[in-house]
Amino acid sequence: MLTLDTIREAPKALLHDHLDGGLRPATIIDLAREFGYKGLPTQDADDLAAWIRRGADRKSLELYLETFAHTCGVMQHRDAIIRVAAECVEDLAADGVVYAEIRMAPELCVEQGLTLDEATEAILEGFAEGERRAAAAGHPIVARSLVTAMRQAARSREIAELAVRWRDKGVVGFDIAGPEAGHRPTRHLDAFEHIHRENFHTTIHAGESFGLPSIWEALQLCGAERLGHGVRIIDDITVRPDGSVVLGRLAAFVRDRRVPLELCPTSNVHTGACASIAEHPIDLLRRLRFRVTVNTDNRLMSGVSMSSEFAALDAAFGIGLGEMEWLTINALKSSFVSFDERLRLINELVKPGYARLRAREAAAAVVAG
Ligand SMILES: [Zn+2]
Repeated sequence: MLTLDTIREAPKALLHDHLDGGLRPATIIDLAREFGYKGLPTQDADDLAAWIRRGADRKSLELYLETFAHTCGVMQHRDAIIRVAAECVEDLAADGVVYAEIRMAPELCVEQGLTLDEATEAILEGFAEGERRAAAAGHPIVARSLVTAMRQAARSREIAELAVRWRDKGVVGFDIAGPEAGHRPTRHLDAFEHIHRENFHTTIHAGESFGLPSIWEALQLCGAERLGHGVRIIDDITVRPDGSVVLGRLAAFVRDRRVPLELCPTSNVHTGACASIAEHPIDLLRRLRFRVTVNTDNRLMSGVSMSSEFAALDAAFGIGLGEMEWLTINALKSSFVSFDERLRLINELVKPGYARLRAREAAAAVVAG
């Protein structure tokens, strides 16, 4: 089994991480004091972390989303957003993440008068600051932004235009998120049309709490390049008693077209999409060679990091360094950053990083033998 140190040291790439789902608990308390947010249930960082995790682990996506009131509550001012964004990048880099696309819905940051552009600018400024601090600490990272629109709201076209407006400053794509049932992605068609017309990128939260129709709409009607979660694609896969596997038309399309699945195993357990990591469809999906990627979703709410997710997968399925590297290269191939940058990250960081770790493991095995 891989040690947590080895997993941490291994270069990792992250495509699905919410900025408002990864705050440091102590930062929430600091910012609440500084900016007069009154809603926190406690002033103790450990108690707050435990309270939020309990709130998130209630087997319902809707209940899970309730915990974001407090994180978004302290992200209403420019300096607060910059701090949160910079710390996010620092934390990911310290965990061995070399490339991250971090998403946020700017419409959740405008309660105290910030504009959507000001919120976006603050996020990007924080990311740049985080990149500088991480490089200085010896953990270089490339951090890019995905701009999210809330699917239950009606601002998606405006948010899509916002994403495109900031594309040369660090925004690499557009997403919709929020409660899935009753909020179909096709409500936001004009937003997706704008994204396509501008040759920009989109991923859509689909197939998390809701099944195949949501995935089908996201791909075939809204033109999603990736699926946020997409885990319910398993509903279109049949495993026969003799172990043979039959893919339905949609599952076959997803695999044939190499549609990236932004899987978030622990988050799925907390929202009730899966009973446990051991029973998570990621095992079958990776064995069938879908374009699987591993992601954190909400590090604070789920109490996870990229390393802890990989450790959980290694414990459940024995993925080892070889599969970790495959999953990491999958993520980089599926990222929205330019092709040149993807090649650079894969060839200069990821492949040499894993080669080094494998050589070290082999040397240790010889000594042990
Ligand atoms: Zn998500």
